Formats: sequence, C-alpha cells, structure tokens
Amino acid sequence: MENPDINVIRSKRKTISLFVDKNGCVIVKAPYFVSKKSIDSFVEKNKQFIEKHRQRTLEENERAERLGAYTKDDIKRMKDIARKAFPDAVGYYAGLIGVKFGKITVRRQTTRWGSCSPNGNISLNILLCDCPDFVLRSVAAHEVCHLKVKNHGKEFYNLLYGIFPEYDEARNWLNRNGNLLQRRYDLYLKSLGGT
Ligand SMILES: [Zn+2]
Repeated sequence: MENPDINVIRSKRKTISLFVDKNGCVIVKAPYFVSKKSIDSFVEKNKQFIEKHRQRTLEENERAERLGAYTKDDIKRMKDIARKAFPDAVGYYAGLIGVKFGKITVRRQTTRWGSCSPNGNISLNILLCDCPDFVLRSVAAHEVCHLKVKNHGKEFYNLLYGIFPEYDEARNWLNRNGNLLQRRYDLYLKSLGGT
C-alpha cells in the first residue's frame, strides 16, 4: 500500500493522537509544542494500526462505490420502516425494563447509531433501517437501557445483555458493515448536489 497522506492539526491540546479518516488520510492531532520529528516517530510507531485501518477504509469505500449511492426510493423505504420499527422496538424494550420514554426521532447521524437525551427522548439513525432487524433492535435496546442507567458501566451492560443477549453479534455486524451504509448515504447526498 502506498504511503498515506498525513494531516497534522495543531491545537491547545496536551496529548498527541491519530485516526484514519473516511478518505484513508491519517489525521494527527497534536499540541503546538510537539516537534515535527516527534510527530513522525509517533506515526511510525502506530504504523500497524494505520495500515489496518486504512486498508479497511479503502475496502469499504470500494464496496460502497460498487453498491452505489442509496436512491431516493431506498431512503423512502427506510423512512417507512423507521416509522413503525423504531417505536415498536423502543416500546418493547422499555416495557421489558419498565421505563417511560419521550419522543422518538429519526436522524441520520454520521458517528452514532442512536442517542438518548436526559429528558428521555431517543434518536435512532435512519440507516438502521438498512440493517438486519436484530441490529436495529439492539440499538433500540441500548438506548432504552440508558433511560435507566446513563453511563456504560457494569450495571448498564448487565441490564442490556439481560434484555438483549445477542448484543455482541449485533455490534459486530455494525462494526463490519456500518461504515459501508454511511458511505452509501454520503454518495446519496452527493448525488443530490450536496457535499
Ligand atoms: Zn450508550
């Protein structure tokens, strides 16, 4: 694999970190005081991590290109699914653990699959409607558990695995396929003339 592009973003932060963005570029976040040489050696030290993530990102991009952008019909189909499946799933799991929930919002979120606000409203990612049903339900169950436990501690996971034993399987599915769905949605937005 050819050498990746490396972008350095300087800020007032105290530590140095890096990640691979969705174009396969390496983004290094570094404090102002760190030298170019230290950054280079930091990148060198993380070479394996970078390679692994770059490879995966580039493969995902290729798959997304091959499958192509979502069409307007795809999005309409997902919205139709969301309208029924989201309230069904949230209602079901909330019933299991005996919690009340607020509004359910359908969103396209680029970095998360769902969220839960302090006042009990739940947002779920529209792209869950292009996932297998058990994956959609796993995210609903996760957010519902936050109505009882805010953090991701032991108590939270005990509750979650109690109502959704196949949670890891669902998580793995999202890890393997989630980015692909995001890319296809990005391509859809591009096809509309956005960025
Ligand atoms: Zn969570």
